[in-house]
Amino acid sequence: TLTIDRLVEWLAAFRDAVTEQRAWLTELDSAIGDADHGANMARGMAAVMDKLDQGHPATVDELFKSVGMTLVSSVGGASGPLYGTFFLRMGMTAGAVTSFDGAALAAALRAGLDGIVARGKAEAGDKTMFDAVSPAVDALDAALASGGSLAEATRAAADAALAGRDATEPLVARKGRASYLGERSAGHLDPGASSSAILFETLAETVS
Ligand code: ADP
Ligand code: MG
Ligand code: MG
Repeated sequence: TLTIDRLVEWLAAFRDAVTEQRAWLTELDSAIGDADHGANMARGMAAVMDKLDQGHPATVDELFKSVGMTLVSSVGGASGPLYGTFFLRMGMTAGAVTSFDGAALAAALRAGLDGIVARGKAEAGDKTMFDAVSPAVDALDAALASGGSLAEATRAAADAALAGRDATEPLVARKGRASYLGERSAGHLDPGASSSAILFETLAETVS
């Protein structure tokens, strides 16, 4: 199971990874956006961890609600509300528990994905973070349904997120700033799908 402390470890690992890969995420966003995705994610996750450094909430719902609210208030642009809603919905679904087993994690991540869709209306192939998060959540469900461990299931989710990220490269964007470029958005990885792949990779690494 994932205790609150392990979940906070995941968030810290995500903060570290987006900080390390900030220049690369910004470079991706400079090709098809406004060159701020690395800065947005690094600033948002720094704010999240600054707050958590003052103390961990006692329950999983409080933890993720706090993460979501901090991201909404500290990150402008598309990714603040989208990642913010993702974590807020995870929190709303989690309930006042003190740890996640595989099924509870999968249900929370599924609710987070639904929140991204409710907020941004993205569909598969629109070249957004949906294209990494959706296959990751599907892979997590499938691995758990076939009896996989939490470690195996989160590894499958991370691999699916990475494949989904890579599959955004040839796509023409239909949502967000990149869609303003039309056909010229093809030939580049989507920045939000790329940060989302990092989110699932750090989850797998935290669980393993
Ligand atoms: P902004 O585009 O406002 O500068 P960011 O650069 O931080 O915000 O984030 C851009 C990312 O947000 C995109 O790469 C894409 O993955 C994601 N995104 C944008 N619009 C949507 C949407 N409607 N639904 C899902 N994801 C979206
Ligand atoms: Mg941007
Ligand atoms: Mg911006």
